[in-house]
Amino acid sequence: MNAGYNFASGPSGLPAAVVERARTELFARADDGSTAFEQPFTGEAFGATLAHARARLKDLLAVPDNYHILFLAGGATQQFSMVPLNLLGDASHVAYADSGHWSQRAIREAGRYAAVTIAARYEGERPLAAPPLSPWCLPDDCAYCHITPNETADGIAYPALPDCGAVPLVADVTSCLLTAPLEVARFGLLYAAAQKNLGIAGMTVVIVRDDLLRRPAPLVPSSCDYRAQAAQGSRANTPPTIAIALAGMMFDWIAQQDGLAGMQARLQRKAALLYDAIDASGGFFRAPVAPGHRSPVNVRFELARPELTTPFLDYAAQRGLHHLHGHSAFGGLRASLYNAMPEEGVHALVTCMADFMRRYG
Ligand SMILES: *Cc1c(COP(=O)(O)O)cnc(C)c1O
Repeated sequence: MNAGYNFASGPSGLPAAVVERARTELFARADDGSTAFEQPFTGEAFGATLAHARARLKDLLAVPDNYHILFLAGGATQQFSMVPLNLLGDASHVAYADSGHWSQRAIREAGRYAAVTIAARYEGERPLAAPPLSPWCLPDDCAYCHITPNETADGIAYPALPDCGAVPLVADVTSCLLTAPLEVARFGLLYAAAQKNLGIAGMTVVIVRDDLLRRPAPLVPSSCDYRAQAAQGSRANTPPTIAIALAGMMFDWIAQQDGLAGMQARLQRKAALLYDAIDASGGFFRAPVAPGHRSPVNVRFELARPELTTPFLDYAAQRGLHHLHGHSAFGGLRASLYNAMPEEGVHALVTCMADFMRRYG
């Protein structure tokens, strides 16, 4: 029996093949009698797990050799502090584009450590959109410019990357990393919490260009010091071992599905199916984001009659379509189509929407 589909924004579902693999491999006993849960983080067995995850990720993203890949404990919210603490150096300013909920959270946190300049924001009403790609306000004395290419809660995605010149571009790619190819060399630093597309909660991947590690960071706690973690291969202290093992399995699974090109093609089919159904519903369902700026990963939509939102959520749940409510800041509906969501799940959702419309339309 199909256990249903999980459209949650995070933690997300995992591919069934990854859950099966985890069930056998994580509980298997090595020669010393230990399972993956019991291996010392400095030991050979976990060392191999870590090296495998790093090599696979480097391969999938074609990460250039002058970048470090770190697997750090904690979520993306920790990086909201670690990024300014590690990269500010002698500068006093940092620039942030305000594109919605998660960038605003990052801005608030950065404001505790530095003067934040808002590089850009979208000033219009509905339909919603990403900030315009120019002009951007980047002060001379600016350590980096931060963007959130996919706004998970707002359902907004940038149509292209901004040109920040010599200012290093830093991106919170928590909800979009490994959903499509990405040119790492355009960024100074990328970070993504694992629980959306890379496995389970508790770990964040940081990919940082070598030259950015040289800046002094006197206030950084040692466990949060990118330089120390880079120098010690993410083992300056105990890393989230099981989350790293799961990420390695996710990377293997993605590689087997034609890598990032395969993920992107599948995501585009899923997103087109759902947005087309919304747009073809004669206004019964509607998407508040402008077509060129709609996130393929987090599809935000709503019912023209808001009083039907709860009945729709109940109707969908009865059919095994779970967690379709919008972010608490916005209400409405949202379907997250992360890598693990099979195309059949989106077909089931579109059928459910049509049936609901026939009943209530
Ligand atoms: C989910 C999410 C976060 C928050 O991640 P935590 O691991 O809960 O701190 C931050 N940024 C984006 C873009 C997200 O989607």
